[in-house]
Amino acid sequence: MSKDTKVIVIIGGGASGFFAAIEAASTLKSQGIEGEVHIFESAPRFLNKVKISGGGRCNVTHNQFDTTLFCQNYPRGKHELRSPFTKFQALDTVEWFKKRNVKLVAEEDGRMFPSTNKSDTIIECFMTQAQSLNVELHPRCGVQKITKQDGLFHLEIKNYKPISAHKVLIATGSSKAGYTLASSLGHKITELAPSLFSFKIKDALFRDLSGVSFQNAILSLKADGKKFTQQGPTLITHHGLSGPAVLKLSAWAAREMKRDNYKARLLVNWSGIDSLVEITKAYDLLKNKNLNTLIKNASPTFFTKRFWHNFLDYVGIEQDRKWSELSKKSFNKLIEYTKATPLDIQGQNRFKDEFVECGGVKGKEIDFKSMQSKICEGLFFSGEILDIDGITGGFNFQNAWTTGYIAGQSMAMDTLS
Ligand SMILES: Cc1cc2nc3c(=O)[nH]c(=O)nc-3n(C[C@H](O)[C@H](O)[C@H](O)COP(=O)(O)OP(=O)(O)OC[C@H]3O[C@@H](n4cnc5c(N)ncnc54)[C@H](O)[C@@H]3O)c2cc1C
Repeated sequence: MSKDTKVIVIIGGGASGFFAAIEAASTLKSQGIEGEVHIFESAPRFLNKVKISGGGRCNVTHNQFDTTLFCQNYPRGKHELRSPFTKFQALDTVEWFKKRNVKLVAEEDGRMFPSTNKSDTIIECFMTQAQSLNVELHPRCGVQKITKQDGLFHLEIKNYKPISAHKVLIATGSSKAGYTLASSLGHKITELAPSLFSFKIKDALFRDLSGVSFQNAILSLKADGKKFTQQGPTLITHHGLSGPAVLKLSAWAAREMKRDNYKARLLVNWSGIDSLVEITKAYDLLKNKNLNTLIKNASPTFFTKRFWHNFLDYVGIEQDRKWSELSKKSFNKLIEYTKATPLDIQGQNRFKDEFVECGGVKGKEIDFKSMQSKICEGLFFSGEILDIDGITGGFNFQNAWTTGYIAGQSMAMDTLS
């Protein structure tokens, strides 16, 4: 290595670290700058989360190319991402991969996957790019310590010799080790809390109903004194409730629910109809059409038969009575519970969900034009280590690509000075 060689070190060989490394190395190359780009990864393999993402299919981004609307999908980070998305947004992601022979295809709900439906396609693309640009890859090499002296960073690394670098990117995702490194260089970490989880609910209403789903349920809860509402597909599972609406609600209320130890009263409007008048109309129609039918045999269109039977038990209505025999009080109770069934959330579940961490390096300490630290010159951040997180649908990867892209290019261009 000559004295003029610039050294760029990327800590973390995940989604954002790889994107940044590829951008840094290709910028160095196109600018004719002599430099080295290293990725140090603590795990034996790179890109572990990309591998398991989207159920092994990798939901790369979302088919929404209006950046203002795109930003609405980040419970934390929607203001910070506004400027980065003017440089690299979902449409740029689609083109970036297309240029590298990976076609992204949108599903009806907007999620975009590689046309092969395999996350390995994304991994192979990154590995090929990194290798062709001579990015130096170091698996099993966790960075343990960084110090800065005379404008240079000095890193202590497991299974590797100490190394000095001109620019360092911390792209360690939600790992504790990454937060510790960031703190050691003067950064504040905001309140951490899991996001995108399902709700643990044990209730007789769900008995034998695992797998039953609702197209457009309206869910609301109060946590830490604040009210949160979301609407969308909702699924009964063996453990409680899941599905896009639940995951979204968990994202928006992540910190507040943690503060309340994941205990909350959830109100579910199964019908998806917001107006009490309209729900009443639907039941009036049902009743009048089925006066001589047993209540259990004539259900509203927004309920499946299986759910209806449990629901009647839950509300305390005799199933073998006829609709004509239903008292006014019970009729009103049906309407009331359809609009707002109270259920107690007893905890959170995170099984195979697209779990992310809410919280991280404070946005105010970062210059989002370059992703450089405002506290420590030459230090950069990208991806989930930032206090930015999105809902499900490809938004978390888009954050990783966008901030990685900007950090990678800035580190390389910055080497000119
Ligand atoms: C099961 C699952 C499925 C998901 N599916 C999707 C999806 O389909 N779409 C979507 O948008 N998002 C998805 N996500 C979220 C997405 O994976 C993350 O937001 C994204 O990977 C963040 O990228 P990153 O590079 O910041 O962090 P990561 O991808 O987590 O990479 C960080 C890397 O840093 C390494 N590291 C940590 N500490 C050190 C250290 N001290 N030294 C060296 N290396 C270190 C880690 O081992 C890791 O490899 C999913 C998450 C999970 C858990």
